[in-house]
Amino acid sequence: MAEIIDGKIIAEDIKREVKEAAQRLKETKGIVPGLAVILVGDDPASQSYVRSKGKRSEEMGFYSVAERMPADTTEQVLLKKIDDFNRDPKIHGILVQLPLPKHLNEQTVIQAIDPRKDVDGMHPMSIGKLVIGIDTFKPCTPAGIQELLVQSGNDPSGKHVVVVGRSNIVGKPIANILLQKQGGANAVVTVAHTGTSNLTSFIKSADILIAAIGKPEFITGAMVKPGVVIIDVGINRVEDTSSPKGYRIVGDVHFESASKVAKAITPVPGGVGLMTVAMLMKNTLKAASNV
Ligand code: NAP
Repeated sequence: MAEIIDGKIIAEDIKREVKEAAQRLKETKGIVPGLAVILVGDDPASQSYVRSKGKRSEEMGFYSVAERMPADTTEQVLLKKIDDFNRDPKIHGILVQLPLPKHLNEQTVIQAIDPRKDVDGMHPMSIGKLVIGIDTFKPCTPAGIQELLVQSGNDPSGKHVVVVGRSNIVGKPIANILLQKQGGANAVVTVAHTGTSNLTSFIKSADILIAAIGKPEFITGAMVKPGVVIIDVGINRVEDTSSPKGYRIVGDVHFESASKVAKAITPVPGGVGLMTVAMLMKNTLKAASNV
């Protein structure tokens, strides 16, 4: 049976360190890290993510602002709000919750954020630095994946990492992070996607498999190499009449079969998801420390 890579324990350790460092920053420099989260519209999942980001910020002792804007907010009004936060010295980090309503251009909005406050690591300046290997804000979910690998003793150096999925949020950045000639990286990386023929042969060759597909339980135990380390990024709702909610959350990997073959695996929930907010806290502390 695979060892469980526990996102809860690793995320708690990170949050404790961030909280202590934030306290020191306040005592030595009088700086309180400030995070502004902007939510446009009333998507229930986004609302819940924004609430949890606000709660975690307060737990860290940060100054936290949640800016909720109506779904019909114009680009001009949203850009003005971002500009206000760019100029606000109490705010060190700005995050615009994605996805945005269709009438707003995601890239225009992301690029309006001052790169020094881009704690979500989505600005082209942050992504460009990441690709070159310069210190920057790493996007939170991929940064959390790297942390899970390192903290669980599964250093990716020299390993064949297969990433399934090439989104700008997960697949592309994690591939770029892990191929850097740096500690906690230095891997041989393959990125697979819908254009990959014979996907299973790639998956089977992975020492470390990162599944970021968005398809419930898509990868089964029969598809992976014995001894593989699996990071399951997927968060999928599937119908479950036995649950009071009528659904349950599963990953992109079929946990039951894969955990019989793998050396180590992240559970869903309880794995990558918990790391994302912890890394946002870490990035906000970094932004405040850079002032
Ligand atoms: P996305 O933007 O929908 O991208 C999915 C990727 O998977 C695409 O690159 C797609 O390939 C690829 N793909 C889809 N079906 C495939 C197939 N049959 N064979 C091979 N590749 C396939 O998704 P995302 O935003 O990266 O999210 C992926 C999953 O992670 C979702 O379940 C999401 O909810 C979850 N997620 C979790 C967190 C967290 O904090 N834990 C954060 C972000 C996302 P093409 O490019 O060719 O279309």
